[in-house]
Order: sequence, then structure tokens, then C-alpha cells
Amino acid sequence: MPCPVLRCFGRDAQAARGDHFPRGGSSRDPAGENDNARRVQPLRDSLHQLGGGDPEMHVAVEMKISGSPAITLQSKEHDPQITVNVILALEVKQSWPLATKDGLCIKHWLGNKVRGSFRFKSFYLVPGPTKETWCLSFPHIEKEMLNNHGKLKTCCELNGPKCCRKACLRLLQYLLQKLQHKNERNQKLVKFSSYHVKTAYFHACVSRPDDTNWKLEDLDNCFEILVNDFVNHLQIKELLHFFIPSMNLFGLFDQSSLTFLSDEIEYQRNNGFPIFIP
Ligand SMILES: [Zn+2]
Repeated sequence: MPCPVLRCFGRDAQAARGDHFPRGGSSRDPAGENDNARRVQPLRDSLHQLGGGDPEMHVAVEMKISGSPAITLQSKEHDPQITVNVILALEVKQSWPLATKDGLCIKHWLGNKVRGSFRFKSFYLVPGPTKETWCLSFPHIEKEMLNNHGKLKTCCELNGPKCCRKACLRLLQYLLQKLQHKNERNQKLVKFSSYHVKTAYFHACVSRPDDTNWKLEDLDNCFEILVNDFVNHLQIKELLHFFIPSMNLFGLFDQSSLTFLSDEIEYQRNNGFPIFIP
């Protein structure tokens, strides 16, 4: 949804969360959640009409997750079921906010030209945790960095050299998903999301920018290094937002959940990842 000219935008990084993880813990603001729900209600109603009104679509709108701006559409006729999360996003065609000035440090990975071209694109706003807050969001840039991830433009192209970046990212996301499933009852990992993994992955791409750092045949080793990176972020309680470096995505997390995930991953790593065995 295009947004009219944005007249005022503070530097406050707290007002600029770019992630989509479910809200929780000390950052929760029940009043804000209600405001969010009200704000997206017209969109929710439209989608409900869209799904229910057309019998050809066979799409149902699921119950909303408390505190999440996402609307979940589900097609129950497929096996496995197809679930799509829709989030209201406002497209802002203006210069990126000042808080992003030192972010997106891809100079040594994708190059300054690419960084400049990214910063010429729009950015998005998605509903934040409180009434006054909208979160900055850059899904289109993230998608481009995932697809065009090589220092050499030919990386992973049909006749180009192949790397293991995508495989490493998928494995780490799968690991988190499996651990969350395993700990579904104790709810200790609900605050973590694939966005945290993706952010750690982008930082890893910056730390090891050369395609030779990610040779396809070195997948085992590269995955191990990425896991180490992620555990390190958990242990030092610091995962800086890739676009807004003044914002620590783990800043409001309680120490016990960070330690719990770190210990769970360490256990998996030290035992050959038994959780991957079906
Ligand atoms: Zn590649």
C-alpha cells in the first residue's frame, strides 16, 4: 500500500523495528497490541471478504496471533496445508531515515554501488508494538541480497560457480524451527524468529564476503561457522539490526531465553545434530 509523504521521522531506533517476530516479554504493550488490531482491522475485513466471498478461492482467514500484525490465510484443501501470513505494509518513496545511515554495510561484500542503488529504493512501514510506532521494513532489499548474494555476479548462476550460502541459511532456519517445535510446551523459544537467523546470516556474509568463503563443497564447515556466529550473538546478547545498527534485536530479550537457545544449539552441535535425524 503506497504511503503519502512522510513528514516527520525520528532517529529513535526503538521506533524502527524491521523484524516480524511475535512480540513478547518486556517489550509487550497490550494497549499497543489493541491499537495494532484496530489499525489492521479494515485490511482484515477485506481479506475475510476476499477469502469467504469467492467460493473458487477456498481460503480461510485464521484467528490472529495476539500482538502480531500478521493476518494468516490458510488453504485447508491442500495437503500439507498452505499458510500465508499477510502483513499490512506502507511503501514510503522517500530517503531512508537517518537511523539507517550506518547500516547495510555491504561495501566489501556486494559493493558500494549496489548499496547506493538499494538506498534509492522505497522502504516500508509495518505496524509496530505501540500506537505511535511503525517498524521500518526492508523485505525487498533482503530478497535481493538473498538472490544476488555473490561477490561475483555469476555466483550460483547456471554456468557460474556454486556456493553454499543459501543452504547454510536454510539449515540454520530449520534448526531453529526444529528446536522451537521441540520446546513448544515450555514456550522458551517463542520469541526467536527466522528474522534473527536471517540477520545473523547477513552479518556472516559481510564478515566472509568472498565466494570462496562459501564453497559448495565446504557446506559442513560453513554451516558450523554460521552456527558459531549465531551462538556468539546469543552469548554476547547482541544481534544488531542489519539496516539500523543502533538497534540490538536481542536487547530486550531476557538472559534465560538467550542462554537456553545457546545451550540447545551447543548440545546439537556437539552431538552431530541429532534433531535433524527423522
Ligand atoms: Zn552463490
